[in-house]
Amino acid sequence: MICTCDECRYTFKRVGSYKYCPDCGSDRIRQATPKEKKEYIDYQKEFYPKQQLA
Ligand SMILES: [Zn+2]
Repeated sequence: MICTCDECRYTFKRVGSYKYCPDCGSDRIRQATPKEKKEYIDYQKEFYPKQQLA
């Protein structure tokens, strides 16, 4: 599941029962919207293009 932090807008892939934002430590995390998920995926492609090709 892709989640977004309402506190700092950090979007991340949630693993297991992650309850806190890995960036700021806030518990105000929620499931990312489709738009935020797309931005997250685009961001991953931009910063890790070689991983996508591997
Ligand atoms: Zn945060």
